Amino acid sequence: MAILPIRLFGDPVLREKGRPVTKFDARLQKIADDMIETMEAAHGAGLAAPQVGLQMRMFVYDIGEGPGVVVNPELSDFSGTYIYEEGCLSLPGIYVEIERPMTVRCCYRDLDGTPHEIVADELLGRVFQHETDHCDGLFFTLRAEKEKRKEAMRAMRETLMPGEKEYIPNREARTGAARREGARVL
Ligand SMILES: [Zn+2]
Repeated sequence: MAILPIRLFGDPVLREKGRPVTKFDARLQKIADDMIETMEAAHGAGLAAPQVGLQMRMFVYDIGEGPGVVVNPELSDFSGTYIYEEGCLSLPGIYVEIERPMTVRCCYRDLDGTPHEIVADELLGRVFQHETDHCDGLFFTLRAEKEKRKEAMRAMRETLMPGEKEYIPNREARTGAARREGARVL
């Protein structure tokens, strides 16, 4: 297994739509293993393929009950509302309060290509929505209300060092961000 570099906010791959997975082979298994190891090393609760530079519709997750792999997610049956402060491994140190549906149904494939369906709510529902957005090239700040999004942009600017124009987080910030109490990075 290998820890993969995590792509950060501003990287074009995070704005591209992932391609559906069609080959359920040993390579896919290896990618999933590496993504799980990368997510765990970064103390994340979820990690999508575009975050490690792969334009694929696939993500891994672990909300404390062991890791899972979701390939070709399709969400439906959104219901309820849930406000949660989201963090993202691709934007270390920034947390944004976002309202999303509480419960979603996710149809997906496992690593063998077998179809499954799961109804996810609360934190799991949030992880599934955040990661499926990554697969669609959507960044979580787009889901925030205008004011909250502005706040996040301000927070990003405040971390800038003299001479820097863009938010460039370092590895220390990433690790520290992941450990903030009460918030999960996805
Ligand atoms: Zn994320």
